Amino acid sequence: MDDLVSDFSRFYILTILYEGPDHGYGILRKFKNRVGKTISPGLVYPFLQKLEAKGLISVKIEATGEKERKLYTLTSEGKVLCERLFKRFAGLVSIAIEPSLEVCAHCGCKMYEGGHREVINGKEMVFCCVHCAGTYKEELGLISPGPKGIHKHA
Ligand SMILES: [Zn+2]
Repeated sequence: MDDLVSDFSRFYILTILYEGPDHGYGILRKFKNRVGKTISPGLVYPFLQKLEAKGLISVKIEATGEKERKLYTLTSEGKVLCERLFKRFAGLVSIAIEPSLEVCAHCGCKMYEGGHREVINGKEMVFCCVHCAGTYKEELGLISPGPKGIHKHA
């Protein structure tokens, strides 16, 4: 579990840098604001050093008064890595939500939420919209097609 959380932390540090260059302090603050948990500088800084050593981020030293701050920027290799991670992560998320997706009985499109429900032949069917429900019933011969010929427009 600890490993998983720290992997998520590292992943999230990358997503923060993917949005734009930031300082170590900015990363710590954004992490806390968005994840709702503080992240240890003891995790962040060694990770940033590792990224720098691998050429995934570049570090610019900025002098601010008596202190100097490091600005971390993803390199193009770093961005490629992020995009690959995001894709893999998106794949995992879709596996997790896929079974709960409903599919329109007519057109087969996937619905993340909502949809139109109708009981047809005693069975509750789900459609993406009323139009799909109508066409489905027409195809089953349950209802006659709309009064064609009366209206000129389709
Ligand atoms: Zn549909």
